[in-house]
Amino acid sequence: MKFNTKTIHGGQSPDKAYGSVMPPIYQTSTYAQTTPGGHKGYEYSRTHNPTRGALEKSFASIENGHYGLAFGSGLAAIDAVIKLLEPGDEVISTNDLYGGTYRLFTKIYEKFQIKFHFTGMQEIQQIEHCISPKTKLIWVETPTNPMLNIIDIKAVSALAKKHSVLLAVDNTFATPYLQRPLDLGADIVMHSATKYLGGHSDVVMGALAVNDKTLADRLYFIQNASGAVCGPQDSFLVLRGIKTLHVRMQRHCENSRAVANFLMMHPMVENVYWPGLPSHPNHQIASEQMEDFGGMLSFTTKGNNYHKALKVLERLKIFTLAESLGGVESLAGHPASMTHASIPRAEREKTGVVDSLIRLSIGIEDIEDLKADLKQALEA
Ligand SMILES: *Cc1c(COP(=O)(O)O)cnc(C)c1O
Repeated sequence: MKFNTKTIHGGQSPDKAYGSVMPPIYQTSTYAQTTPGGHKGYEYSRTHNPTRGALEKSFASIENGHYGLAFGSGLAAIDAVIKLLEPGDEVISTNDLYGGTYRLFTKIYEKFQIKFHFTGMQEIQQIEHCISPKTKLIWVETPTNPMLNIIDIKAVSALAKKHSVLLAVDNTFATPYLQRPLDLGADIVMHSATKYLGGHSDVVMGALAVNDKTLADRLYFIQNASGAVCGPQDSFLVLRGIKTLHVRMQRHCENSRAVANFLMMHPMVENVYWPGLPSHPNHQIASEQMEDFGGMLSFTTKGNNYHKALKVLERLKIFTLAESLGGVESLAGHPASMTHASIPRAEREKTGVVDSLIRLSIGIEDIEDLKADLKQALEA
């Protein structure tokens, strides 16, 4: 089965009871048994639920994995991965990491004696430099937020294998439509399904997909033992979202290309960060490992003026000023005062998060409306 077919049919079959094409929302916590232990594979919904199960099969299918797991949020999925580790273990992670992931690593897991190294990952030597016999996991996010840097998953995977270290990739920004980390050698792929997989800004959810049976069993054990599962209603919504992932992503990419080109030509704009632009420092590797370049884009206005950038954001009418990304509607954000406000100015400016940086999640509206909205906001 090819990718677009998998989004609709991957791991799915009509429901056994009445042949319903979509799985019913099994809104139940428990299941009747005929005799103790006599059940149809379902005992309690923290452990298994048929609607969640259908979604987990879909996750596995679209990521080309054998096993899928669904969680109550993206962070709950990351939390389950870190629970594979033990005190004294070390993790190497990208330095421009999603803020919530950074907070989980440093504020929760450092307390339990897990050590995190944060480094740039554009050069493989930077990662190799951090590896010690205690390193158990490399955590990659690509493209990164909000600078859209690209990390070479295949190259990191070769390094991880050489040192027998697990490689996990946060694939939230790219989605499996654009990039499939398991095929590139990662052991674990993770999603905030809140974003593109759900796609409609109406659910918070997380996902993992893996190939190795032993690793999958350990993660299923953690999922059940720690209990951060998602409910059947949300599972249904994300399963429905995935069925249009490919057509939405096509439009997200197409609109982003047009917005990137529009901003590049605009006299009020200084820099545009989108991996599809030949001027992007990682354009070459992005072209090799991604099918297209995604729906996330950042830019700076001329003069690096905080208030000017805020004015642009306030004037936008179709773009909504909001956190999050990956929905059908276009969103705009100001990393310096929103997602990255907790990072000291000197630190964030080193990675490019300056006062005039604006991040856009390009939706699937008509491109002429999006360009007109940006034009009036920049020129008012
Ligand atoms: C949103 C996000 C997360 C966290 O996911 P939640 O569903 O909000 O818990 C992790 N990584 C990336 C890249 C994200 O965008």
